[in-house]
Amino acid sequence: MQNNIIPQISEIYSHIDKETEAFRNRTSLQCPPGCGKCCTSVKVEATVPEMLPLAQELFRQGEWSRWLERIAAAGDERKCVFYQPDPVISVNGRCLVYPWRPTLCRLFGFAAVKNKKGLPEAVICGHQKKNTPDIAAAVKAAVPDGLPIPKFTDFSIRISSLDPCSEIRPIPINRAARLALERYGLAMQLAGSDSAEKAETG
Ligand code: SF4
Repeated sequence: MQNNIIPQISEIYSHIDKETEAFRNRTSLQCPPGCGKCCTSVKVEATVPEMLPLAQELFRQGEWSRWLERIAAAGDERKCVFYQPDPVISVNGRCLVYPWRPTLCRLFGFAAVKNKKGLPEAVICGHQKKNTPDIAAAVKAAVPDGLPIPKFTDFSIRISSLDPCSEIRPIPINRAARLALERYGLAMQLAGSDSAEKAETG
């Protein structure tokens, strides 16, 4: 159990946040205020290590088993259980675990993939394109010409290299969260029984 990689994952998340903030400042590309549309997609994915900082936090809050039950009730393949839709504006909503969200949630709308020619290509959300078409078009054109932009793969490789035993392919976010919660909980139970055993024999 490699739960001791959590501080390193959190550090990578800080780097992502700094890079996306710098990119937003350079380009003025923003999400529409309050928009949570990307969180409603069933295609949001993460790896298990990416969800460990959240598992640790939910364990610390005593919310660990409640979230496991919520994931079981919602289903592994359904939309993210941590999304709370706005009751009034249908596309708006909020993330209940924002500081601990995984890589894709931090980068979506502000990062690039490599295209078939090996050049970076900005992945811009449809709502950004609709709200600020000129900015979205300018960013799209400038990225292959060298505009600095965070890259999805840079961060996913860094995180997966911390835990080579874990599956590197992302899986649906609810499943990744469930597996991370189970993994973190099991490690804590083992650590607890180990120290209890030492106390008995010591
Ligand atoms: S973890 Fe948060 S940001 Fe990511 S999909 Fe779920 S609600 Fe949205």
